[in-house]
Amino acid sequence: MYKIAVAGTGYVGLVAGVCFAEMGHQVTCVDIDEDKVKVMKSGVSPIFEEGLEELMQKNYTAGRIEYTTNYQDAYKDADAVFLGVGTPEKEDGSADLSYIATVARQVAESVESDCLVVVKSTVPVGTNDKVEQFIQDFLINEVNVEVASNPEFLAQGSAVHDTLYAERIIIGTETEWAEELLKEIYKPFNLPIVSVNRRSAEMIKYASNDFLALKISYMNDIANLCELVGADIKDVAEGMSYDERIGSKFLNAGIGFGGSCFPKDTQALDYLAKQNGYELKTVKAAIDVNKIQKISLYKKASKRLITFNGLKVAVLGLTFKPGTDDLRESPSLDNVPLLLDQGADVYAYDPVGAENFAKFYPEGPNRRGSITYVSNVEEALDDANVCFVFTEWGEIKAVTPEMYRGLMRTPLVYDGRNIYDIQEMKKAKVEYHSIGREPGR
Ligand code: NAD
Repeated sequence: MYKIAVAGTGYVGLVAGVCFAEMGHQVTCVDIDEDKVKVMKSGVSPIFEEGLEELMQKNYTAGRIEYTTNYQDAYKDADAVFLGVGTPEKEDGSADLSYIATVARQVAESVESDCLVVVKSTVPVGTNDKVEQFIQDFLINEVNVEVASNPEFLAQGSAVHDTLYAERIIIGTETEWAEELLKEIYKPFNLPIVSVNRRSAEMIKYASNDFLALKISYMNDIANLCELVGADIKDVAEGMSYDERIGSKFLNAGIGFGGSCFPKDTQALDYLAKQNGYELKTVKAAIDVNKIQKISLYKKASKRLITFNGLKVAVLGLTFKPGTDDLRESPSLDNVPLLLDQGADVYAYDPVGAENFAKFYPEGPNRRGSITYVSNVEEALDDANVCFVFTEWGEIKAVTPEMYRGLMRTPLVYDGRNIYDIQEMKKAKVEYHSIGREPGR
């Protein structure tokens, strides 16, 4: 059992903390957000992740996890401090490392015994070297503090599962002491560990994320061509998936990638390359394709309709993917303002994302149109002139062609997730547009 502190209780930090506690370690989760800490202390998860709240309560009751804003107490005698604070994108595309720097300084000023600082946040190659130097510069007590890289690969929506059953744990260290300690901490998970140096570990994270982003953009690019030449991207993807070199995952074409990782991690790697005098053409292409893809359905619908002004527009799904209440870089955030600017009356449904969305677009008149948040699919579709599907939540997938036909004033559907059967929609006389599936001939 090790004494672990985790800085930041977002998707990465909180899930890591809870899973370390589940594995028997003594964990203190630190956040600067007092409200969040209060909520967590009451046994409630501040984020929506399946299974998280149950594990929080179980380990809190067992006395293995606590939550605090008092970082000094948490860091002073921790064996390891894991950093899970944000590294958002700055305007120039580079990663904002100010949160990392703040925690590094807090650790340096608090530690009273030897400590391993483990950076879980996604940071540009070379950052861990700088963090170690930074800590040395501010260290108050004469103790040994080293820094290790341990990038996180969880996906929102399945974060707890992805942590407990990770496909691999990447650890990047520069000394045997750091490597052995991290291996010991992860021992109870019984998962494959890949041990490399710090810079390689940092690069593995970006290279993995950007490869996935590239795969999505590649399929979207091919999908757009499919539409023009009369091929069906779903059939194309299925045919491709049998090739083990390609694999069957991440072949779904759609409205583009969002979330807190792919958009910023593609930008950050592109920036890192430029800083080093190199042009990362493939990653740049993934970024460019995604920008176009996110508003491709809106453009299609704009061509079909004279105007959105005064139309009731049903929006099904707001989050960037199902299983999360996270809206960061969600395609809905690109499309809804365009619709509102055109004077649309948007009726939006999302099982968990509406509250967060309303922080950007409060209910009522907005821009030239208006937005109303409804509590079920039926209310959104009722008497609607057009419908956009942005997220493939189960209840949205379950909408039948007959429901679109029966509930909408005009059964006109733009599906950004390719979740419905074209023939069934046709049979029900629903005008259905999706991505990469309409024959162009
Ligand atoms: P998040 O924004 O959800 O959470 C960050 C938390 O850190 C917030 O609660 C914030 O209040 C807290 N914080 C800020 N400064 C602090 C300080 N000085 N001390 C303690 N807490 C502080 O972030 P996230 O989505 O969990 O991402 C964290 C990092 O992990 C990022 O680098 C991200 O790229 C990476 N990552 C994210 C995911 C994901 O799916 N979200 C997956 C893998 C990696």
